Amino acid sequence: MSAVVRTTCPYCGVGCGVLACVQPDGAAKISGDPGHPANRGALCSKGSALGETIGLAGRLLQPRLHGREVEWDQAIQAVATGFKRVIAQHGPDAVAFYVSGQLLTEDYYVANKLMKGFIGSGNIDTNSRLCMSSAVAAHKRAFGEDLVPLCYEDLDLADLIVLVGSNTAWCHPVLYQRIVRAKEQRPALRLVVIDPRRTPTCELADLHLSLRSGSDVVLFNGLLSWLAQQEHLDQEFLRDHTRGAARALLVAENTAGDVAGVARQTGIDPAALQRFYEWFGATQRVITAFSQGVNQSSSGTDKANSIINVHLATGRIGRPGMGPFSITGQPNAMGGREVGGLANTLAAHMEFDNAEQHRLVQQFWQAPALAAKPGLKAVDMFEAIYQGRIKAVWIMATNPVVSLPNANRAREALTRCELIVVSDCVADTDTTALAHVLLPAAAWGEKDGTVTNSDRHISRQRAFLPLPGQAQPDWRIICQIARGMGFTRGFEFASAAQVFEEHAALSAAGNAGSRAFNLAGLTGLSPGDYARLEPIQWPVRRGNCAPEGTPRLFSDGRFFHGDGRARLIAKRPRAPQYALDEEYPLVLNTGRIRDQWHTMTRTGRSPRLSAHLPEPFVDMHPADALRFGVREGSLVRIATRWGSMIARLHRSGEIVRGAVFVPIHWTDSNASDARVGSLINPALDPHSGEPEFKHTPARVEPFVVAWHGFVLTRRALTTDGLSWWASAEGAQFRRHEVAGRQVPGDWALWARRWLGADAAADWIDYRDVGTGIYRAAHLIQERLESCLFISSRPQLPSRSWLAGLFQQPRLSESERARLLAACPADPAADGGATVCACFGVGRNAIKAAIAHGCQDPRAIGAKLKAGTNCGSCVPELRRLIATVTETPA
Ligand code: SF4
Repeated sequence: MSAVVRTTCPYCGVGCGVLACVQPDGAAKISGDPGHPANRGALCSKGSALGETIGLAGRLLQPRLHGREVEWDQAIQAVATGFKRVIAQHGPDAVAFYVSGQLLTEDYYVANKLMKGFIGSGNIDTNSRLCMSSAVAAHKRAFGEDLVPLCYEDLDLADLIVLVGSNTAWCHPVLYQRIVRAKEQRPALRLVVIDPRRTPTCELADLHLSLRSGSDVVLFNGLLSWLAQQEHLDQEFLRDHTRGAARALLVAENTAGDVAGVARQTGIDPAALQRFYEWFGATQRVITAFSQGVNQSSSGTDKANSIINVHLATGRIGRPGMGPFSITGQPNAMGGREVGGLANTLAAHMEFDNAEQHRLVQQFWQAPALAAKPGLKAVDMFEAIYQGRIKAVWIMATNPVVSLPNANRAREALTRCELIVVSDCVADTDTTALAHVLLPAAAWGEKDGTVTNSDRHISRQRAFLPLPGQAQPDWRIICQIARGMGFTRGFEFASAAQVFEEHAALSAAGNAGSRAFNLAGLTGLSPGDYARLEPIQWPVRRGNCAPEGTPRLFSDGRFFHGDGRARLIAKRPRAPQYALDEEYPLVLNTGRIRDQWHTMTRTGRSPRLSAHLPEPFVDMHPADALRFGVREGSLVRIATRWGSMIARLHRSGEIVRGAVFVPIHWTDSNASDARVGSLINPALDPHSGEPEFKHTPARVEPFVVAWHGFVLTRRALTTDGLSWWASAEGAQFRRHEVAGRQVPGDWALWARRWLGADAAADWIDYRDVGTGIYRAAHLIQERLESCLFISSRPQLPSRSWLAGLFQQPRLSESERARLLAACPADPAADGGATVCACFGVGRNAIKAAIAHGCQDPRAIGAKLKAGTNCGSCVPELRRLIATVTETPA
């Protein structure tokens, strides 16, 4: 076994520490790092399954030029020459970099330096624009700099935690479990969840406020006004440390001055609203944590500022257990913000419009052509590509054809672009399919550098695997292209440590306290110091014997506007940009699911992660389902003015009337028609440029097919001729959910041909013409090769017992006999659809345990282990307990 390496999880912004080592059989052993302050040894289902995602299948391992494998020299020359040609002909603003919160800080740093300092354009923006740029803009307006005031430890100290627009239980599971533990230890701790959906996060909540989509500013203006009326404001703090309070209070009073009016505007029950206001008013230690539900809006910045306003007005900031807390979505969204990966920041929290800072960056980099103005933000960047103003783009570690709003237009934009360069670790994505040049990048496990999580902890990501094939770290690829473009000075870095050294030095340059982002204490690290660097929160000072981090900001009441005061921002509520109408009467809301990450290029490789929700779905209220004539389990088309997609209707009970929810993860690589980005409206927040992913007018209609089916198979299948399909990884097989509009004339002939079973194959099948059922299985030497189940109805047998048969070297006689019935002789052998991904525990097994007396998640955990690792399935366990207990025998 290799040495244990301390690294960090590459998924969400919690930034959990991970222990990784390679075992003798080549598999990676993964566990949580007990020494990391973000997670103290815990991991969620995604982090726990990291070891299943690091194989080389599907990796991009060699540069490709127009689809042909080439050597690095040739690829570098093609990119450098292409960019130079476009710049020479059309100027520096005709090129762009679209980067990612998946990059390490060192990668980000050299990309930003190349574009802004040497090419001379501001056109570098990151996919973090899509998830937290509204929080960044709000921080800058309120605090004078993009600063998260508090730390995770404050969650242990708070007496009231308000989660706004955040399904923390699924999207930041380790933080959620921290709140669960805090509440267990201190039952008086109150949790309020503000979200239109009743998500699994609400299972723990003392109060759930299901507000009308987009009405957050009304809610928090109402709170500000109520706090003033009840004399809960901290007048001394307002006087000494803020500006703008009078105007903010006046606007709050005018727009949301009475609880009944706020209740009407937000759709919240007045008594529940009153209770929330009273709890907030009476509690000093209150944290308001928010994420994409707030940020992804055409008024996201105003929403975030309305939250910050109530903390400033009550002085509940800068002290233990309190403050507004933006929880970031990606592992290094914060690191990208630090270096200047957003198009409207110059570098190291320095701004374009500050002449002194502009001069400082120019001198520090010895930049030949420092950009003078901000570049184009993500959506505007792709619009400029569409319009032909940007002619060459380099996309790094992200999949914009899936993830951007109005994604069909983004795809069309790329098809018009003269030069598309994509660096990625995955060969086949919806975006790499359009690239002229593909550059193989190192993947997690092979990368070395730093990331910064939601509470400003800088942690090392350390390599524990060798670089495979021709893959290289992103920072090194960028430096080679820079040198290829003729920038021989400024990109001579020999290691990630050297890049970090320059990054830290820039943060400290000319910084006598004017900028909070300051890594002075991390400058001058030796390679050994960098290798051993422990997680530390910026700003970092030089301590007497070691660097000193900063858990909390603003404890001295000093902010980073020129006058040292924070700003309350007066904002009138604005409705979402596109209103509902008769044609599109539903609000389309989008988000993540528990066990998948982004476009599933990594988590999709894990069978256990793919087992929980294996196909694209739309969640809606039963009354709306009835109104639109669609049934649970059937296929439906979701349509907006910008696009449409097909998904399975799944009613979770979480959705209010008038809304639908669709997850963001499916792509053209794993489903026929499920890129929800193609449905999303193009509205943007005017301050942050963040898209309105949470509110697109939509309609739902049946997607009529003649037959439904599924196939589990060890073989690679084509999907030609299917009307709809979605596929997911299983253990030793692939699962395909399928549907068709044409009924084959001969099912057996069609099935044999599709599954590759010739006339001599061991083939068993069953047909019932009356019910439209056809079932077949193909075995090779008594081992199950494929099985196929077809019906004229969407109700099909359980896949879970069949899935288990693929683990067996040969089927027993009893298993073979029951194969086409899809159920074992002993019903208990069918665990049912996966609920607990960590231990692969299914719904049937859990229901049986409940029926046998396990009446709380602990008891289920003791019997089946479900819920005892990451805890993310505990809300689902609670729901099952309620369902089974309520169902009469
Ligand atoms: S909560 Fe899960 S996905 Fe997020 S960093 Fe931790 S282990 Fe990774």
